[in-house]
Amino acid sequence: MAKPLTRRQFLQRIGALAALTWPALTRADTKASKASVHYRNHPLDHKMCSMCRYFLAPVGNSNGMMMRGLTPKGTMGVGHCQKVRGVIDPMGYCVLFTPRQRVPRYR
Ligand code: SF4
Repeated sequence: MAKPLTRRQFLQRIGALAALTWPALTRADTKASKASVHYRNHPLDHKMCSMCRYFLAPVGNSNGMMMRGLTPKGTMGVGHCQKVRGVIDPMGYCVLFTPRQRVPRYR
């Protein structure tokens, strides 16, 4: 029969277990699924991912915007989102949409 653990042994084992699992837990994907945020690959009114503050444009496209805010479908690659998992269509939309801050123009 196994000897019961002392309090010190128990705490040491819990500490070792936490040290082993903590990195894996902190790496866990915290982004939402597309279904949970009602993502769709077409805009709602004039709200679209390329105008959202969480949109990460594809590399090589500085801000995901073309032609004064218009983003013709098919001319841009897919991007990613800081909040939602997977590839994101610049013309998409979800309930987490948050407009980008406008940069003030100075004359
Ligand atoms: S939060 Fe939603 S609307 Fe904004 S970029 Fe991500 S998927 Fe698109």
